[in-house]
Amino acid sequence: MEISFTRLRIYRECPWKYKLMFIDGMKIPSTPQSAVGLALHRALESFHRANSEDLEFLLERYGREDKGRRFLEKYFEQNRARRTRIIGNEKEFVYPLGPHMVRGMVDRIDQRPDGGIEIIDYKTQLDQKEYPLADNLQLHFYALGVRECLNLKPSWLTVHYLAAGKTDSIAYDDSGEDELKRLIIETAEHIEAGEFRSDSSFCPRCDFRKGCQFSIARD
Ligand code: SF4
Repeated sequence: MEISFTRLRIYRECPWKYKLMFIDGMKIPSTPQSAVGLALHRALESFHRANSEDLEFLLERYGREDKGRRFLEKYFEQNRARRTRIIGNEKEFVYPLGPHMVRGMVDRIDQRPDGGIEIIDYKTQLDQKEYPLADNLQLHFYALGVRECLNLKPSWLTVHYLAAGKTDSIAYDDSGEDELKRLIIETAEHIEAGEFRSDSSFCPRCDFRKGCQFSIARD
């Protein structure tokens, strides 16, 4: 089967949620916040694809009149001060892992002046919590994909919190790659075997908690 980070994440949150979304085709309803996040991602992709250095161009690509514009103005200033070279923008990777295919899309890949490769993920939510990057499974998933598919050796993992106008980086430690590969393969095997038990520990944060038959957080 083909497994992406989203599929891996959703299965780990709750296998039943995975079934609702990827077998039954239920969609997570769009929210004002998710719409802003999508528009920000698209604007940044378009801005960097055009190699633009013009703030007005970036704001035009965004096309909305809300607080997202302030995030982009902050981003623009911070980006101007960076000394890195962009070598990947919404860069896709696909590679075989055992009998499966692993697919992903990295927001941005930079090369630092010393040659180090930096994997960057944009976080767009206003109330985005900051977690230790060493525990950030998404960035490790991307770093592994970049190494396996694009033949680049990542040195840095970075999250750019657009709403807060902050970045957080750590040196990439590749010692967990074998464990991550095992996790991806095991998850794909559980999915292929149709193992979709419910995991109520995720219910309070689940988008389906109001209607799901196994929900313990309907209120
Ligand atoms: S409401 Fe709970 S049991 Fe239902 S899909 Fe969400 S996390 Fe799983």
